[in-house]
Amino acid sequence: MRKNVSILGSTGSIGLQTLEVISSFPNRFKVIGLAAKDNINVLAEQVKKFSPKIVSVETESTAEALQEKLGKTHTVIYFGSEGLIKVASHKEADTVVVAIPGSAGIIPTMEAIKLKKNIALASKEVLVAAGNIIMKEAAKKKIRLTPIDSEHSGIAQCLKSEDPSKIKRVILTASGGPFLVLSADRLSKVSVSEALAHPKWHMGDKISVDSATLMNKGFEVIEAHHLFNLDYSKIDVVIHPQSMIHAMIEFIDGSMIAQMSATDMRMPIQYALLDGERAYNKFDLVNFSKIGALTFDLPDKEKFPCLEYAYTAGRRGGTMPAVLNAANNEAVRLFLEGKIKFTDIPLLVKQAMDKHFITSEPTLDDIMAADLWAKKEIITSMA
Ligand code: MG
Repeated sequence: MRKNVSILGSTGSIGLQTLEVISSFPNRFKVIGLAAKDNINVLAEQVKKFSPKIVSVETESTAEALQEKLGKTHTVIYFGSEGLIKVASHKEADTVVVAIPGSAGIIPTMEAIKLKKNIALASKEVLVAAGNIIMKEAAKKKIRLTPIDSEHSGIAQCLKSEDPSKIKRVILTASGGPFLVLSADRLSKVSVSEALAHPKWHMGDKISVDSATLMNKGFEVIEAHHLFNLDYSKIDVVIHPQSMIHAMIEFIDGSMIAQMSATDMRMPIQYALLDGERAYNKFDLVNFSKIGALTFDLPDKEKFPCLEYAYTAGRRGGTMPAVLNAANNEAVRLFLEGKIKFTDIPLLVKQAMDKHFITSEPTLDDIMAADLWAKKEIITSMA
């Protein structure tokens, strides 16, 4: 059956690769909606190629510029957070790919689930901040929520023919990012461009910095907790710089299953969009003659404290993971703007977490309020 897809974040790294996968299966997918921030050159090309019913951009002026660029078109153009929701909840879309950084994806994802649309989720922040509520609603509406994250796709693949109750622990691998071997002293002086130069993956700016601080791995721990209903004591992280193994599961009998593939995000995207069906593609393959050794190590918790903060936030629960996410979002933004040091990111996140009074069993409003509180908290602490 053909899938009708809306993509939130169509001009970002995951969005572009999603459209590439969609293009290679022309009979399987139709693009219904696209949402992007402000890259109207790329978005205009996408509109011409995929003729979506609806697109959305961040601001009204960007929407006007896009309209001008497109001229006469059947595609309806919206903007702002309402536009994002319109793309996510369009009546013809049955699958929504959520690939926008930060907490902006939370409300549109929720709206799409309420309308019984399946979700392919690349924005891990959605589950980090609002995992309980999102998973509950997904179960209630009986929709599929599939991860577009190489580690979680790996876990899902390892579990394909296994009983999840027999899991002893899940191991997420981490490349370690660009600063794996850097001294703690040097770490405080790294530049933005050094932080963005990830050794294995080419990604957006926000997630590249999150990978460098290991916060990305921390988010993935919380994501795995929600997606696979795992206690935090059953989720481990191992540094594996070659990024060939994406996830491993150890079962109660001590046997382990690992998922391996080249570092190519199109692989987990295709797997998610095809609901786990195996299909040919032209992606890179694992080449054993080139890999050499596969190595493993434990993460350095002192040098990269964000990983531990994520475990703490996840275990405390309630609104704390939303604060972790929002504080990190703001701290990363400040770092990218050159206003703080790389090593200030974990300091600011911890500061916000220490000050936060948790609301347990939060509503979505509580979560969005905690998100706003944490962002303001970071800005005030900088003044
Ligand atoms: Mg990942």
